[in-house]
Amino acid sequence: MSAPQPPAYFPAPRRARFCSQCGSPVSRRVPDGDNRERDLCDHCGAIHYQNPRVVVGTVPTWQGRILLCRRAIEPRYDTWTLPAGFMELGESSAQGAERETLEESGARVALGQLYTVIDVPQVEQVHLFYLAEALGPALDPGPESLEARYFDEAEIPWDDLSFRTVATTLQRYLDDRRRGGAFQTHHYTLDSRR
Ligand code: ZN
Repeated sequence: MSAPQPPAYFPAPRRARFCSQCGSPVSRRVPDGDNRERDLCDHCGAIHYQNPRVVVGTVPTWQGRILLCRRAIEPRYDTWTLPAGFMELGESSAQGAERETLEESGARVALGQLYTVIDVPQVEQVHLFYLAEALGPALDPGPESLEARYFDEAEIPWDDLSFRTVATTLQRYLDDRRRGGAFQTHHYTLDSRR
């Protein structure tokens, strides 16, 4: 007999309903000595802290063209994105950026400098994009991408980009490149839910 299957798998909500330590229901309140509400277990005492998640990605280029991937997953299915995804436990942000690039596009890259640091408080995330030089033109998109390809500046599908962090990173990259390629790290905050 196999285990019962859910209708679909989905990322669990941030708010906990039950304690991951003992399985008791949790309550939402401010712990002693704290200044904001947390999910507290009144049975075993565990405090379930929630903190922003880090999204790591790259601006990969090959002979001046920019690599974009067409998403095969929600949210923003069938729109174009720079390769990026959630940083995993136990890796550095640079390792995560390189891993996501390989997983989503098949591109092997030499990582460059950290390029954008984007706070997105409304979705509780921080996005980091590194510059990256592809080691060759070969692409082999994984299951999270419908397609991966390199774009000339004039071909970039601005109306079909997945996220504002992607659009603003691309805009800054192209601006810096037009000014002669003196790339510096940009740090800014976005308020939109995209
Ligand atoms: Zn508990």
